[in-house]
Amino acid sequence: MSKELSSPNGTHDVLPPQSRRWEFLIGTFSELARRGGFGLIVQPLFEDVAVFNRGIGEGSEVARKEMYVFTDRGDRTFALRPEGTAPVARAYVQHHPTPPWKVWYATPAFRYERPQAGRYRQHHQLGVEVLGTDDPLADAEVIALAHDFYTAIGLSNFSLLLNSMGDRECRPAFVDTLRGHLQSRVADLCPEHVATASENPLRVIDCKKPQCREVISQGPVLDDHLCEACRDHFGAVGDALDAMGISWIRQHTLVRGFDYYNRTTFEFVSHALDGAQNAIGGGGRYDQLVEDLGGDPTSGIGFGSGIERLLLARVAEGISDDGLDDVRGLDAFVIDTTRDVRVTSLISSLRHAGLAIDRAYDSKSMRSQFKVADRSGAAIALIIGPTELEKNAVTMRWLRNDNDMEPVSVAWDDVARTLKRWRGK
Ligand SMILES: [Zn+2]
Ligand SMILES: [Zn+2]
Repeated sequence: MSKELSSPNGTHDVLPPQSRRWEFLIGTFSELARRGGFGLIVQPLFEDVAVFNRGIGEGSEVARKEMYVFTDRGDRTFALRPEGTAPVARAYVQHHPTPPWKVWYATPAFRYERPQAGRYRQHHQLGVEVLGTDDPLADAEVIALAHDFYTAIGLSNFSLLLNSMGDRECRPAFVDTLRGHLQSRVADLCPEHVATASENPLRVIDCKKPQCREVISQGPVLDDHLCEACRDHFGAVGDALDAMGISWIRQHTLVRGFDYYNRTTFEFVSHALDGAQNAIGGGGRYDQLVEDLGGDPTSGIGFGSGIERLLLARVAEGISDDGLDDVRGLDAFVIDTTRDVRVTSLISSLRHAGLAIDRAYDSKSMRSQFKVADRSGAAIALIIGPTELEKNAVTMRWLRNDNDMEPVSVAWDDVARTLKRWRGK
């Protein structure tokens, strides 16, 4: 016998009924994105490795240590996408859409990380990007979309952290000051940053190690170095969020790890999740990314959110999925002992009427079909034996014990309407 195969380390299969939660998340996100004027973008899972080396920066942790890079049979070097933004910018450069270009995506992302709870080598992201405008109202709308999405999937115990990373005008002076501060305290940094702090001082701000946090807390603050344009931009984002009733917290140490970010940067953190992995989504503005990929100067803003992390946050907040199963589940299960083709036709017509219907296969007894029906989670059974068949009718009854309505006989012509009424549709 051959060895049983399993999914690669750090990956997971999402099976029914768990996958209903995925449908719910993706469906909710797609609807909110559509209402916000975003269109779906579907892209290759692998790109020329330069898209990421130039996009997120060759020096970044992700590009150096975590990317899946491979050479194909034609000797070209590709990378599996470690994130969703750089490929969208690549598509913008390639296709010259009319700005502002607003797209949403649902995509796997691949990173070679040490597998641990809630971290996968293939995880899944929902996100949006707006390319071709630096209007702060676009920033506010993107942040509001994320906020509304989290609320729509039931989350309430989270905060929005907001910061400005400055831009090409004002950031270099801050980075110099920060570099000087870090050099004067280099012995106090975490082991990794003792070696790399002067290369990219901004990454130390992002470091979670207590040594680095201590040094950073005593160092210069980016906000003191923002130029007037950056200050106005940040103020306008905050005002728009306030106007929409979305509360936010200024977090001076919020600096995102990829080279392409500037100005607005934000993160949503769940208070129900463990501190080290409590970010349920985040993003920011990237006004140089398109240029880095060979395009004309083009502003951009976006965010991404990990599906696995969002599901953990829902569990941590104790959100019940009972309603979810009921809403997304089967309307009825057909128990048919006749195997008459007219029953197949009846099932087909119910599905055409928009109802979710399943049935048993393989000529099982009435008793064992009932067991399958119970397991299916369907609310209602439609029973067809020889007596029903003769009358062109079904016996309709609730499958769950908590409903004591008597079974009724319903003519085939009337099944769809009655079923919808029973289901409150
Ligand atoms: Zn550090
Ligand atoms: Zn500035």
